[in-house]
Amino acid sequence: MRVLYLIKPGELTLKGKNRKFFEDRLQASIHRKLEHIPYTITNRSGRMYIEVEEQFRTEVDRCLRTTPGIAGFAPAVGCEKDPKQLVKEALAMGSRMFKLRRGNRFKVEARREDKAFPLTSYEIACTLGAELQKEYPELIVDLHHPDWILFVEIRDKGYLYVESERGLRGLPTGTSGRGILLLSGGIDSPVAGFLMGVRGMMIEAVYFHSPPYTGEQALKKVESLSECLAQITGSLTLHIVPFAEVQETIRDRGVLDEATLMNRAAMMRIASMIARKRHAHCLITGESLGQVASQTIESIGFTNRFSDLPVLRPLIGMDKEWIMEKAREIGTYEISILPYEDCCSLFSPPHPLTRPIPSILQTHWEALMIEEILEKALERVERRIFRYKKGEESSSGRPIS
Ligand code: ATP
Ligand code: MG
Repeated sequence: MRVLYLIKPGELTLKGKNRKFFEDRLQASIHRKLEHIPYTITNRSGRMYIEVEEQFRTEVDRCLRTTPGIAGFAPAVGCEKDPKQLVKEALAMGSRMFKLRRGNRFKVEARREDKAFPLTSYEIACTLGAELQKEYPELIVDLHHPDWILFVEIRDKGYLYVESERGLRGLPTGTSGRGILLLSGGIDSPVAGFLMGVRGMMIEAVYFHSPPYTGEQALKKVESLSECLAQITGSLTLHIVPFAEVQETIRDRGVLDEATLMNRAAMMRIASMIARKRHAHCLITGESLGQVASQTIESIGFTNRFSDLPVLRPLIGMDKEWIMEKAREIGTYEISILPYEDCCSLFSPPHPLTRPIPSILQTHWEALMIEEILEKALERVERRIFRYKKGEESSSGRPIS
């Protein structure tokens, strides 16, 4: 049996003349995730429709749940634009909800996109509601707290659906350029990457790895997080930068209390060099204002100088609770809290500077004479690519892990 999915695109309705570009990108990102199964996709009057054999439903559900640019989706029934047909399909849906014991309180929400249809939205809702109650007298119309809602849309055909699922919203992947995410393995940066991914940005990640100070386990953690993010964008390239020599140089040549800030500055510099090579438009970090010494407004002001591209900080105004909740929701939290040392904690001074004076730090940075070592690290970058898990490969119920 074939199933029809009705897909509501996210903010695409606002895109005017660019709409086609956004729709094409959405179809392309869906296709990257479903290319291994037979399905058809069409685009008609403000909605997308996927038709697929019943056996592939789990695959399609997962794809639609993880793809940015989708406001919601539902398995639907399409029928002729005839009031009698709508009633027939509505009764069939009512009977199914009955069998599933979804409760007696219901309402009908109708939307008439085709204004030539003889009944108004309100009349459709009243007619179908009344017919359902006639057939199933136990049903009660409850406009405020219904157990289930029958949605009806009159477009090129009549469409009915009950169980609509919310999508990630945002914009389709590839509509907002490319960003280089500084991915640390902590709680914050994966959430920052997720947020920008949902805004349509293609993400690549950079991890500063410091063997022998940080072990393979820390790297594995960052790889797992990269894989999570690849579930959103379809694929993700991780750049692993050997960072120990940079940190040792800063420790040996610099001022102790400035070490954290200098390390951050070096990260920004290397990340923006990678961004240039990869034709990226910006850097992304998980910084949140005032969270730690290196994230005071003065510290951010200093480290910001080391990127010649815009630095996006989507978590800047979020508190830790909010970030942790989001991390749990998207499934990165459990990975992030695994107890493997990050490169920075090992080199952190006991009293890191919180209010740097940029001109003084700039002089100290120059005294480090570190540019050559940064170049050397850049030459030794390793790259790994993570992809969307198809079919058997995906097992978790979480949206992206
Ligand atoms: P997170 O939870 O993401 O590790 P944090 O609260 O620990 O963040 P910091 O350690 O101060 O914050 O790092 C600030 C930001 O710098 C991180 O969100 C991340 O974007 C970047 N960063 C820190 N360490 C690394 C690293 N080893 N590799 C790549 N990026 C890093
Ligand atoms: Mg960290």
